[in-house]
Parts: sequence; C-alpha cells; structure tokens
Amino acid sequence: METSIAFVLLFSLLAVSSVAEKFDFFYLVQQWPGSFCDTRQGCCFPDTGKPAAEFGIHGLWPNYAKCGRGRGEELASAVLGEDDVAFFSGAVGRRGKCWPEFCDDGNALSLWEVRDLVASLNRNWPTLSCKSGRSFEFWSYEWKKHGTCSNLAQHDYFARALAIKAAYNLTAILAGAGIVPSDTATYSLSSVRDAIAQGTGFTANLECNRDADGNAQLFQVYQCVDRQGKKLIDCPLSMPTKCSSDQLKLPLF
Ligand code: AMP
Repeated sequence: METSIAFVLLFSLLAVSSVAEKFDFFYLVQQWPGSFCDTRQGCCFPDTGKPAAEFGIHGLWPNYAKCGRGRGEELASAVLGEDDVAFFSGAVGRRGKCWPEFCDDGNALSLWEVRDLVASLNRNWPTLSCKSGRSFEFWSYEWKKHGTCSNLAQHDYFARALAIKAAYNLTAILAGAGIVPSDTATYSLSSVRDAIAQGTGFTANLECNRDADGNAQLFQVYQCVDRQGKKLIDCPLSMPTKCSSDQLKLPLF
C-alpha cells in the first residue's frame, strides 16, 4: 500500500515537473496606441470602441535572463543572483530564441475562464489589429504563444498582467514628469527612461517605432516581473531600443 502511494506521488511529481517551463522573468509589454496606429501599417479600433488614451497591454512574456554571451549575462546575474541564472541556464536559447513560446497548443483560451476579467481586459488589453475587431482573438494569441509557457492558469495569467498595469499607471507616471501626448512635442529618451524608473521604482526597457514621416516615437515599454507574475524587478537584460533619434514623440491618440 505504502509503496503504491509512493509511486503515485513520484509519478505526479514527475508529471508536474515535466510540464513546468523554466524561464527567469516576465516582460509585461505595454504599448502606446498612438504609436501603433500612426505607422504606415495603421490600425483599427476594436468592436468595443476607441481605446482610452492610455497604454494598452500587448502581452506578458516569459523570458530567459541569459541569452547570448557578454554584458547581458553579467547584468542578469547581478539582478537575479548567480544561483537563479545558473539554474535556468539549461533552458537558454532553446529553439534559438531568448524565450519559450507555444508551450501547449492543446490549451486554448476559454472565455469562460476569464469571464470576470472581460470588462477590464477590453479596457486595458484592446486589439488594434485590422484582421478582426475582437480583442478575444488577440488575448487568445498571446495566451497560446506566451501564456502557455507561463506556468500560470489562464485566469491568473490575465489577472496578474492587469494587476501590475493597474499598480503602475504608465500614462500618469509619464504625465507627472511632463511627458504628455502631443503631435508636436518631443522628449529625450533618457527623460522617459528616468520617469519610468522613478515612478515605478524599477528600470524598464523601451522600444521605439517610426510614424509615417519617419519620426521616432515611444512604442512599447517592457517592465520586468518576477516568475510568479506578481512583483516588478529591475530588468535583468537590456535590449536595443530601435529609437533612431534621442528625441521621441508620444503622439496624440
Ligand atoms: P507577439 O508575438 O506576442 O510579439 O505578438 C506579435 C503580434 O501581435 C503581431 O502580429 C502584432 O501585429 C500583434 N499585435 C501587437 N499589438 C497588437 C494590438 N494592440 N492588437 C492586435 N495585435 C497586436
């Protein structure tokens, strides 16, 4: 009897550990709708209407801290601790990427699982794609590509992304530093970086894109989050900003 209980425990432990994804931290990626929309590609509003002039969530992405060799590695060790990074180093660069993706294609997002979050998701995680106005398709894609690698249940994955966004209102933090949407003003990259670091208490990575006239503008903010998806951390890795100029726009929307 005792032996069979021990076997059941051992097998369930093995089953759980074989599906648990190894990664080091999450990126919570938020985007400025104005900068998504005014590129040559353009955008479409969701069927719930024009989103508010606020950052919207793009996704919550599991990421490896050790990707490639060099400075990034040292930085990752300094932030996460040698032991953590060493523990996860076996997972680095699998399929040639710096992150795990599409970990369980059989696990499709169920609207029922997130039914109490739908109003908040519509407000905070709206689609801007012209393929369909249904934000559920965007959430489903993000869940399938990134969420299935998060070791979180569907509800927790979306609830934690929403909770972090709500705890650190990037639009208000930037406005507090005088960085407000405008079609004419420009802001230095370092002023945006400093405002976010001071306003949230943690460093983040920034990404620019270009408007139809080629002007650099703030497109996405990558905040770094612990493996539970609960607490911000300083970003273990830096990444190329793709900002073609030091002066950025935050276009009206
Ligand atoms: P990912 O692979 O998670 O980086 O997602 C990239 C895909 O999401 C691309 O096809 C983008 O065009 C799309 N995407 C990015 N932002 C949005 C948005 N706000 N609404 C709909 N699709 C988006």
